[in-house]
Amino acid sequence: MASNDTGLGLSIEELRSRYEEEQHKRLRTDGMAQWGELSEELDRDPFAEPGFTRAPLSDEVTAIIVGGGFAGMLTAIDLQRHGITDIRIIEKASDFGGTWYWNRYPGCMCDVESYVYLPLLEEIGFMPSERYASASEIFEYSKLLARTFNLYPKALFQTDVTGATWDEAASRWIVTTSRDDTLSAQFLVLAGGILHKAKLPGIPGIEDFEGKAFHTSRWDYGFTGGGPTEPMDRLADKRVAVIGTGATAVQVVPQIAAVAKELFVFQRTPGAVGVRNQQDTDVEWFTNLESGWQRERIINFTLAVTGAQPEVDMVSDGWTELMWVDTQSAVSTKEEAAELERIDFEAMESIRNRIDEIVENPETAAKLKPYWGKHCKRVCFHDDYLPSFNLPNVHLVDTDGRGVDQITAKGVVVDGVEYPVDLIIYASGFEVTTDLHQRLGFDPRGVDGVALSERWEQGAHTLHGVLASGFPNMLLISLVQGGFGTNFSHLLSESAKHVAAIMEACIDQDIDVIEAEESAEEEWLSVLHRVGVGGARYFQACTPSFYNSEQQRIDSRAARNLTYSGSLLDYIGHLERWRADPDFHGVRIERRDRSVDPDH
Ligand code: NDP
Repeated sequence: MASNDTGLGLSIEELRSRYEEEQHKRLRTDGMAQWGELSEELDRDPFAEPGFTRAPLSDEVTAIIVGGGFAGMLTAIDLQRHGITDIRIIEKASDFGGTWYWNRYPGCMCDVESYVYLPLLEEIGFMPSERYASASEIFEYSKLLARTFNLYPKALFQTDVTGATWDEAASRWIVTTSRDDTLSAQFLVLAGGILHKAKLPGIPGIEDFEGKAFHTSRWDYGFTGGGPTEPMDRLADKRVAVIGTGATAVQVVPQIAAVAKELFVFQRTPGAVGVRNQQDTDVEWFTNLESGWQRERIINFTLAVTGAQPEVDMVSDGWTELMWVDTQSAVSTKEEAAELERIDFEAMESIRNRIDEIVENPETAAKLKPYWGKHCKRVCFHDDYLPSFNLPNVHLVDTDGRGVDQITAKGVVVDGVEYPVDLIIYASGFEVTTDLHQRLGFDPRGVDGVALSERWEQGAHTLHGVLASGFPNMLLISLVQGGFGTNFSHLLSESAKHVAAIMEACIDQDIDVIEAEESAEEEWLSVLHRVGVGGARYFQACTPSFYNSEQQRIDSRAARNLTYSGSLLDYIGHLERWRADPDFHGVRIERRDRSVDPDH
């Protein structure tokens, strides 16, 4: 070990070059093209109601919301509060819940504290049973939200949108679906999800495998036995491969390790796994919280994880501790930059030291260590992942940054060694920065029939990531030019509030059509570029990940498809200031002609 005065295992220079070496191992020429889509068979919804049918619908409503996850549900709830109840929510799944409908893999939970993650806890009067809620509890909570706010009668489940076209003469969106519905609406809300389109690594031979294979978001309990809350009882004689070591794998590996005959974990980039410290909810504490506590705690958490260092760290967990200093912020002096680099190294060193403390085999421990900056990839928090590697039936197969070489009929190949398995589980994540229409599964057509894919061919054009020129009355909730945050439900709640407020203002003020002006979109783009300076510099030294589009070269198109990389609270500030301006700065509006409208 190098001696140094930093308290780190390696000197700053050694760490810097180690990070660089690890980054270089992982840079690839195919960037985002390395991923493939799930085949129709792998994408099939294992939880769908079999044989479901319904008659096609043809009706007109005020708003069609695409997506029944938190974003869509919260938008509908906000609209209803305002008395706008003629809403349709179109959802591919057979229930509400979005990510919590699809992700039912064993061990699935939310690693953001339930008291700040679950929306509307005070209004619903619900107490999460644990500090970090299980996916099952969150899915049940989604259904409770839907029942409480009477969303079920508005939902069209097991229905895919096949097209959405702006009818200029009528100022309405015409939406068609896989169930032959033809619906029309004044507003179209695209809340189709952020991490919803599962992806597969493009490993050669993937289709040759003759055993069972599935993606973690399509868990087949018919094969594994058990259920999200019952132990899997059919893996005792099975050899299982998990491909990937991201946030999903970290939760799923301990569950398989506990029951499978053998588990092989195929690692490309080691994940960062901090302390979880799960706890049952302290009932006395929870029941004595004062009115308004949740909003205060949500804001406090977001302040803490964006480096704003609030006076009190209310949540005080692994997230707030690790993210207390924003080490990617733009600074003006070399000294400040060096200080941030040191803080980042120290934070990640504590993650690496934890591995040595837990994992007994020093070789395995060394392979599990992440050498990347704390903002480069999503960090994870779990107390059972690392101990899994002490079990005799669990084997880490480190691919030294290259990934799995091949899949054969019998198993998984790395470095010329074939690992025969009965089951391959792809913990390979979701599309995040691919084209929006690709993730939505349809391509909205706006003014003059121009498709979103055409309009955004050279990159996105939006105001706040919400309104888009050429697409009147279309409201987006996505990461494209929108906000980002550790607590996604904070982002989604505020985005839902914003899109609902726009629709409400239009209805209250007889506005028939609202659309972003191109000049305002360019102003917003310059805001995105301005706040992105620190992050862009930081990411240059990062390992590839979905945070940086796999380190694909930034072309002019990618330079428009950005996320607001400043603090989520700053992004929310932009939305709030815009809403407070009675002149709707930066949008074109057409008011209904009251003289020809007898209702007004
Ligand atoms: P990720 O995209 O984070 O992970 C995919 C994994 O697959 C990575 O480890 C990746 O390696 C690996 N991989 C890709 N290609 C290959 C290959 N050819 N060979 C071997 N390994 C390969 O997906 P997750 O599903 O884990 O997480 C996605 C997101 O979902 C998270 O970032 C988080 O936002 C959310 N999530 C949230 C949770 C929560 O508790 N709130 C829990 C789970 C997920 P590499 O790193 O090298 O790319």
